[in-house]
Amino acid sequence: MSRSRNANRLAKRLCRQTTLKQSTASRLAKQVRVYLGSPVPDASASHQRRLEAHITHVLADGFQDRQLNGALFGVREVRATAQHLELVLESAMADEVVHELLPRFDEHYGGIRGVAGLRVQLSSRAIVLGDALSSARIAVTRTDGQAWRLPTARDGETLLGDTRGLSPEERLEADEWAESIPSFADVPLRDLLLSRLLRRPALVNRAAEPHGFANCYTHHSGDLVIEWCCGDTVEALCATLLAHGFIDGVPPSDAVELASPQSILLGGDIVILRRHSTCLYGRSPFGVQEINEYIREGYES
Ligand SMILES: [Zn+2]
Repeated sequence: MSRSRNANRLAKRLCRQTTLKQSTASRLAKQVRVYLGSPVPDASASHQRRLEAHITHVLADGFQDRQLNGALFGVREVRATAQHLELVLESAMADEVVHELLPRFDEHYGGIRGVAGLRVQLSSRAIVLGDALSSARIAVTRTDGQAWRLPTARDGETLLGDTRGLSPEERLEADEWAESIPSFADVPLRDLLLSRLLRRPALVNRAAEPHGFANCYTHHSGDLVIEWCCGDTVEALCATLLAHGFIDGVPPSDAVELASPQSILLGGDIVILRRHSTCLYGRSPFGVQEINEYIREGYES
């Protein structure tokens, strides 16, 4: 299908799915930079979406601006169906991703880090990480195909994954995620959108393309910010997500808000896209190469 026909169809869809004016919908639709060949399926079960959303949230907070080789959340590609999700992890980040995900008590932090209730269920070429409280699980493999080293406790940490059951503290953490305490987020919508982010690395990684990393962070359990500078404009990245079903099923009043020329809110304020108008790194005393080297050393220390 021609580019202009794609743009016209998307503009019409955005008019139905959002409260954007027709002129704004048309402007966004013309900025889509990439069309994936096939639609990306959602996880069909609510507990699966909840686990995938929790994983995305923990990885965003854990890595912030410490991704390598353009892999936001450490994910290079996915194999996704309604019943299954396999994350193919960037090999330079893979061990660190699994360490971030597995729950542990961190003395320095004074609480539990990682995805409460997550357990290693099977370990071979792929690790299966499953929720002890439901049948939700994901598989993780790595781009280099190398064997996994399961994480060991670091200074001040006690790993919680060795036991099948959950301690009362870990269960409380899991319950708080399930209810999105202390935010006021619409939990099913949060789970759907953060799960959709994890399932679309070919799209979200565009934010990390120019410098090999972008900044991800959260304010509370009900949101996630992706912040970058060069490359796609905020409208171009947003339009690319919208073209790939990102707001399907979201109430039009909450779907998309162009909050400022630099920031767009999706799903109310659950997913926040923010792009700086000038480069954050071009004039820094350290070039992008040096910053990447610094990030890499951090993983190995
Ligand atoms: Zn830049």
